[in-house]
Amino acid sequence: MQQRHGRQADPREARVRERLEAIRTRSAKSSSWRTSTQYLYRLMNRNGFVPVKARLSREDLSFLAGAREEVIMFAELGVRLLDLHRPQESGGISSDPGAPIHRCRACMARWPCPTFRAIDETLSD
Ligand SMILES: [Zn+2]
Repeated sequence: MQQRHGRQADPREARVRERLEAIRTRSAKSSSWRTSTQYLYRLMNRNGFVPVKARLSREDLSFLAGAREEVIMFAELGVRLLDLHRPQESGGISSDPGAPIHRCRACMARWPCPTFRAIDETLSD
């Protein structure tokens, strides 16, 4: 059995990592729609639709097949993590009474905690 930090590795961690890696790989292999959509916006008809003839690769299709559900899933994950990792006053004695020390109520790290920073940094670029 694989050991990490003196405790047994949770098999669920490997499963979650595998799933995330698969989504990341599939997304990275597909083409970006940024340029195409800028062009397609200009072709919108009166009814608000764009008739499209698309040339899609196998990688694009496997990305598009699950893209909507996966984006929703990640947004849900982000919201759930934010709900868990929130600041609370630590109640300790601060050198500055006007700026009390805040800690994360989930992981108890000093605010902003590593989980919140990871979410913030990932979404900022
Ligand atoms: Zn936290």
